[in-house]
Amino acid sequence: MSLEGLELGEAGASGDRAAGRREAIRTTVAGLHAELVRYGLVAWTAGNVSGRIPGEDLFVIKPSGVSYDELNAGNMVVCDLDGDLVEGEHAPSSDTAAHAYVYRNMPDVGGVVHTHSTYASAWAARGEAIPCVLTAMADEFGGEIPLGPFALIGDDSIGRGIVETLKGHRSKAVLMQNHGVFSIGKDPRAAVKAAVMCEDVARTVHVARQLGEPLPIPQDDIDRLYDRYQNVYGQRSPR
Ligand SMILES: [Zn+2]
Repeated sequence: MSLEGLELGEAGASGDRAAGRREAIRTTVAGLHAELVRYGLVAWTAGNVSGRIPGEDLFVIKPSGVSYDELNAGNMVVCDLDGDLVEGEHAPSSDTAAHAYVYRNMPDVGGVVHTHSTYASAWAARGEAIPCVLTAMADEFGGEIPLGPFALIGDDSIGRGIVETLKGHRSKAVLMQNHGVFSIGKDPRAAVKAAVMCEDVARTVHVARQLGEPLPIPQDDIDRLYDRYQNVYGQRSPR
């Protein structure tokens, strides 16, 4: 093979790998939307999942206004980190600017989820953080699930509120006041897990509140639980 041919071959192979990564994230993100439905976190077309494409300043997100049972890898859309459409036939989700702001400002985040799940949004409607009164909360969120600011859609306000609240915070979920939940993770699946767990503890703490005041967990016990769950619990990753 000529040198030119070899170089073209290498460029083609790396292009194939990049295309393969994009396709894998499209498939993952499309499939994870079914989890939002399965766990009862969404109504109609509200809610969305996105996933960063490794090695590129791009992410995959749900198209706007397409019903959950019509979502598939092919109709997911690809946006750059300014939230502008790069690939796809549909307009991106109306929450794309918020997702893009998070990816721009939190380089370790590989997945973002937004829902209006009922119990968590009820806490958001009251403008109240969910206090850490369950060991499951200490495990997963390392403390309370914080409240973010009231912010209107249309510019960077929501994204800024998410990043300002979650940067340096243990919690991977934030209750945006009067709105709903944004959750983050190292990948889209982890962000979906945080959204599911957020709604689960929001419901339990709400129920606990009906008959009295839930008991707080001492901070040093929260710290111990969080450390154990994050570092010891579960299957060791083969990596
Ligand atoms: Zn929303």
